Amino acid sequence: MKKLTLMAAGLVLAGPALAQDMDRQAQSRVTEVEGPVPATVQTPEDQPPSDAVVLFDGTNLDGWESVDGGPAEWTVEDGILRVNRGSGDIRTTQSFCDAQLHVEWRSPPNDEGHDGQDRGNSGILLQGRYEVQVLDSFENPAYPNGQAGSIYKQHIPLVNASREPGEWQSYDIIFQAPVFSDDGALRRPAHVTVLQNGVVVQNHAQIQGATEWIGYPTYEAHDCAPISLQDHDADVSYRNIWIRPM
Ligand code: MG
Repeated sequence: MKKLTLMAAGLVLAGPALAQDMDRQAQSRVTEVEGPVPATVQTPEDQPPSDAVVLFDGTNLDGWESVDGGPAEWTVEDGILRVNRGSGDIRTTQSFCDAQLHVEWRSPPNDEGHDGQDRGNSGILLQGRYEVQVLDSFENPAYPNGQAGSIYKQHIPLVNASREPGEWQSYDIIFQAPVFSDDGALRRPAHVTVLQNGVVVQNHAQIQGATEWIGYPTYEAHDCAPISLQDHDADVSYRNIWIRPM
């Protein structure tokens, strides 16, 4: 009571301007919330965030297998994972739904004179179905919905942010998985945002269904699923692969 009296006296002395200011402070608090408080994530430079699941740290293929069953038979050498041509796609042993995925990749030098889709083709298949294309798209005309940064045969990248073959490039992918009803009907399609070398190439693009080479994409109900890397008969390399389930 004494405090209030002093405060009121103070307001009288300070005049209406201060009273109005305090009123605005009180009003501003109406729209503040107390929680939930976001968890703290450490982000050391050049390292995965502290809450990331590291899928490839340069040492081994623990956490990966062949999509045909059995061990992943790609090559790990000098901290780098390289497609073992002809051995088939590989996938994570863990399944994922909504996630942030970081992948670094490198196209081989084009010493065989290949063009179009035959130049450094690989891919990152979200949930084993939805392909973010990996291709050497540096001065390499290919159909635009099949070049690097495309959602293969569905979305042309907003720009061509490709570096020269032999240089490391990065994809940062934010994936919102599709949602299906119990009867298998599509309730919400998947969406994806992709940054290539820090540049937005897909902005919340709506995925139309599982990637198809021939024909049009359609959805088939599925659960959370592994991430696959594509063996498309090119010596593409990968490193620093990590994911943050959301
Ligand atoms: Mg591909």
